[in-house]
Amino acid sequence: MSRECQPCTACCDGWVQIKVKGCEAYPGKPYPHSTGSGCDDYDNRPVYPCRKFECSWVKPNSFLPDDFRPNECGALMIDTVLHWQGIPVDLAVPVGREIPPETLQWFMQNAEQNMRPLIYQQQDPNSKTLEKNPLTLAYGPPAFQEWVLDQQSKGIALW
Ligand code: SF4
Repeated sequence: MSRECQPCTACCDGWVQIKVKGCEAYPGKPYPHSTGSGCDDYDNRPVYPCRKFECSWVKPNSFLPDDFRPNECGALMIDTVLHWQGIPVDLAVPVGREIPPETLQWFMQNAEQNMRPLIYQQQDPNSKTLEKNPLTLAYGPPAFQEWVLDQQSKGIALW
């Protein structure tokens, strides 16, 4: 059976940065047509990103458990957001300030078991506001972590 998004609106609410019809959504700034449980302009949604975007949970044959819909598990995953040394790397962003520990632990175990390095984000614990660009952390082999740090120090976008 295919999975249904609603009542999740995590991507539309800007937890992953998107631009719809020229309007940016990012943490703390949901897309204006998101109702928090759906879209009030659903029939007019554009192809990109609305009709095409699929998080890892809603994709057919998803490797994520049933109860990992982003609004339930507190994180939105996008698989194979980049490759490192030919290996696919997954991205997880929090739906909120940070990924709940039990969810993050599952992602980390998945990264280890399937040899898929993980990049994940958290809001800065020292900041009271939601940052547009949360802290970006790496989980995987030391060489992968060093590579991510190196890219960040050079100001190179990871994805
Ligand atoms: S985050 Fe995933 S499940 Fe939630 S609305 Fe977006 S595509 Fe659907």
